[in-house]
Amino acid sequence: MNAPAKAVQSPEAFLDSLFDESILIKTGVDGLYGRAGVFEEVIDRFEDAVTKMAVGDKATRIHFPPGMPRKNLEKAGYLKSFPQLAGCVHSFMGDNADHAKLVGMIEKGEDWTEMQDATEVALTPAACYPLYPTVAAAGPVPDGGKLFDLKSYCFRHEPSKDPGRMQLFRMREFVRIGTADDVIAFRATWLERGEQLIKSLGLPCVIDLANDPFFGRPGRMLAANQREQGLKFELLIPVASDDNPTACLSFNYHQNHFGTLWGMQFADGEAVHSACVGFGLERTALALFRHHGTKVEAWPDDVRRVLWG
Ligand code: ATP
Ligand code: ZN
Repeated sequence: MNAPAKAVQSPEAFLDSLFDESILIKTGVDGLYGRAGVFEEVIDRFEDAVTKMAVGDKATRIHFPPGMPRKNLEKAGYLKSFPQLAGCVHSFMGDNADHAKLVGMIEKGEDWTEMQDATEVALTPAACYPLYPTVAAAGPVPDGGKLFDLKSYCFRHEPSKDPGRMQLFRMREFVRIGTADDVIAFRATWLERGEQLIKSLGLPCVIDLANDPFFGRPGRMLAANQREQGLKFELLIPVASDDNPTACLSFNYHQNHFGTLWGMQFADGEAVHSACVGFGLERTALALFRHHGTKVEAWPDDVRRVLWG
């Protein structure tokens, strides 16, 4: 009945099989791939299923480009917590002499990157990062709070042969801003909805406490603290490895951290709390291909019904 899903030998073998079947297209850089039409089709259908679940919530939909003001990434503390993942856009800003030098360096096969300077643009590391300063700029948050529906390509410098760990990937996110009770209830709702949706797609999953990959020794304490306070949960699906399942959805409670940092507040001056739920779109598509095979016409009927109606 089911399309036979291939057993996964290793993340690298899974990646090679995706290249062989032209589901992903090699570019020569690990974590930077082209996507076949069928891969995009699966992502579109999955997103529609997510949208359907959220339709009654009336979230405000905003799409930011995959770049954000570099200043805002600095202010958000990203370089303090995740310097290893951050990416910043650089451009040539020199004169004619500099240009001649640049072309000469390239001709000689030398490293020419010193001829570029940092622009005002950093690459967005998570879909919700560009949002918060815009909420603060819009003035006091109404008593009932706010809800946003975001999607962005995101960059993280984590080159890998694991197809689930890309350098450029898409994240669909819902972000709730409001009182602590509002945002905790939002996260609880999506923990249930997320599990229900993934199970309806015939995918095995578990939800577990998690932490972000904070850098260095001080990072270890931040990670431990995050776990202790139950601030991050992930929905894990075996994708490229059965022993180390992949985080495909994540559910984060920021307390009033971003409210205080960005000055997002209610009319009485109290900082808002926030929470976000992130859907890793490539990871979810990879999970579907891994478990149901690469021929979507042969996927189980009940899975096809959820995605194609
Ligand atoms: P991981 O622990 O695997 O590094 P994460 O939990 O740090 O991921 P989040 O910061 O919570 O990831 O990002 C939200 C979602 O984005 C994740 O649940 C995941 O589905 C997706 N995601 C994160 N990093 C990547 C990546 N390098 N490639 C593809 N998807 C990713
Ligand atoms: Zn977020």
